[in-house]
Amino acid sequence: MDLQNIKGIGDKTIKSLNKLNIYNIDDLVNYYPFRYQTYNIKKLSSVSNNENCTIIATVESNPQVFYFKKNFNRLSFKALSDNLLINVTIFNRAFLKNNIKIGEEITLIGKFEKLKNNFVASDIKLDKIDNNTIEPIYHVNKDIKNKTLIKLIDNTLAINKEYDDYIPSEINDKYGFVSKYEALQEIHNPSNIKELKQSKLRLIYEELFIFMFKIMIIKKRNDSISLGIRRNVSQTQVNEYIKSLPFSLTDDQLNAVNDCLNDLNSDKRMNRLILGDVGSGKTIVAIIAMVINYYSNYQSAMLAPTEILAKQHYKNILNLTKNLNISCELIVGSMSVREKNNIKKRLENGEIDIIVGTHALLTDDVIFKDLGLVVTDEQHRFGVNQRTSLQNKGKLPDIIYLSATPIPRTYALTIYGDMDTSMIKQKPNGRKDIITKIKKNSELKDVLYHMLEEIKNNHQIYVVSSLITNEDDNSDLKDVMLLKEKMDIAFNNKVNIGILHGKLKNNEKEAIMNDFKNGIIKILICTTIVEVGVDVKNATMMVIFDADRFGLATLHQLRGRVGRNDLQSYCYLICDKEKERLNVMCESNDGFYISQKDFEIRGEGDLFGTKQSGDMSFKIADIKRDYKILLQAKEDVIKFIDSNEFRYNNLYRRIVNNIDFLN
Ligand code: ADP
Ligand code: MG
Repeated sequence: MDLQNIKGIGDKTIKSLNKLNIYNIDDLVNYYPFRYQTYNIKKLSSVSNNENCTIIATVESNPQVFYFKKNFNRLSFKALSDNLLINVTIFNRAFLKNNIKIGEEITLIGKFEKLKNNFVASDIKLDKIDNNTIEPIYHVNKDIKNKTLIKLIDNTLAINKEYDDYIPSEINDKYGFVSKYEALQEIHNPSNIKELKQSKLRLIYEELFIFMFKIMIIKKRNDSISLGIRRNVSQTQVNEYIKSLPFSLTDDQLNAVNDCLNDLNSDKRMNRLILGDVGSGKTIVAIIAMVINYYSNYQSAMLAPTEILAKQHYKNILNLTKNLNISCELIVGSMSVREKNNIKKRLENGEIDIIVGTHALLTDDVIFKDLGLVVTDEQHRFGVNQRTSLQNKGKLPDIIYLSATPIPRTYALTIYGDMDTSMIKQKPNGRKDIITKIKKNSELKDVLYHMLEEIKNNHQIYVVSSLITNEDDNSDLKDVMLLKEKMDIAFNNKVNIGILHGKLKNNEKEAIMNDFKNGIIKILICTTIVEVGVDVKNATMMVIFDADRFGLATLHQLRGRVGRNDLQSYCYLICDKEKERLNVMCESNDGFYISQKDFEIRGEGDLFGTKQSGDMSFKIADIKRDYKILLQAKEDVIKFIDSNEFRYNNLYRRIVNNIDFLN
């Protein structure tokens, strides 16, 4: 059944739903409330003057509407509540006029002006609700109202009762879970807290079970392929290359390189995760592994989540391998078909040793002559399925993932259960902690003054504005322009300021990024685009506006853009509200510590980043909060896979096929 078949859904609604990433009825019923509203109904006689409350009332007169302006009106009527006759007013609800009928019981939410006998409602519900009502609240946008979404989901659940149930029947029996349909009913239309909790638990378990199934099936596959490529590269050869680098490696980096070398020189297929905080220098480890792979005459591929990052890696590799005879190329979506075809041909012929690219690398027509190693940078940005699809391009290529997600080792072992891990904890020598300060908007002058100092010292600055995150809203762009204007005035138009925002075309973004890298642009106003990977050593200051809008993990990633050489770097968090959690940023530069504190303060971290992250974007589960359930699901998944039961289950066969098995 399609969305079109649901009562109340037309073309326009479909467009609005699409904006919420809802494309079919499964997406719709799996769009869960992020919280619930409960009510405390009061007797009017017990309400004091100007108190906010919810009351039940009977309509006593037909509503009158007064229009002040086109979009500004007042609706008023008389109502009886708790034996008191009151005037009710509400603004901008003229459309309710014909729905409010004399004699009907309704619910009023708002402020009671007792002395004037007036009830100023902020919301009116056209039926009588009670203290047991639990109202689901969804993330909505301006095109679609919470109420509409409730209705559409109700309509869907009313006509379609069949939904894929991923919990195998034995497991369902073991835990006595409610059925999938009941759970969906309850999560969208709770009857009471107890049943809501049970349903939530069931949906969380199911989501984590599927997640662990994917992980464990990949692990099983990797384990079964014992014969990887065996190389024969000596430690001396590697050391010689390391000596040629412009800096000496930290002990952690050397250990990670050794882990890679051992894996590459063994029959075992390498499947290694290199975990290290931002700025710890993971890239060079991967580059050395690619050089080892090159010494053995195999091709390497490096996958990056954004074009900016792919280009940066590409240039970095060119630079660090210029004394070797390596042919390295770049492939990204914005290149012309002809350019891409040319590169694909050369890849297939074996003329290219290292290819760096974005998702463009993942298409079926990218064929390698002899792919021996695949590196995926910022691994958490890719989904489980994506992370396997490139591996299948070679015979049995070795695999390295780079990830900056600061997760404690126990979590890593579960979530990355299919991989070996190397940790890079130290920062390169000479790195200073980034001095971080919280400033109010009223103290902006101090910040601007400090910015000017840095620029006079020929350093560069990132300014992050959360305003540009909403890509299709022009009003945001206006605000950013205003920010630029302010700075232009403050700096007397003498400083070159660039803006990187979502509305720009790829080549425009690239030009701006290049100018920043080359020091032509001194201040880069940007979005969280810079959050991943971007490396401009000369940038020594970051100013983050509305810092309280970001999670600590995001702030830490953002801040990691500065402090990339031995200069003292600074970070200003601009925020008017008093936020305890921001203090954590001033206390520490350690991603692990910060994520731990985030957890203590908020009860849950944004440990796994924001929505963009591939694997970790759960609809209802939260790995940290639900860690015990995750462990249980893992145990159950292992039994489920061992029993081979999944081969007779269509849903799991589909997952397995999607993971794109080696034939
Ligand atoms: P991340 O781990 O965040 O991906 P990068 O690999 O981008 O970090 O490295 C950060 C910066 O530090 C880069 O400019 C890199 O060239 C540099 N770097 C890496 N290792 C060292 C080292 N041992 N000594 C000095 N600089 C290093
Ligand atoms: Mg990186």
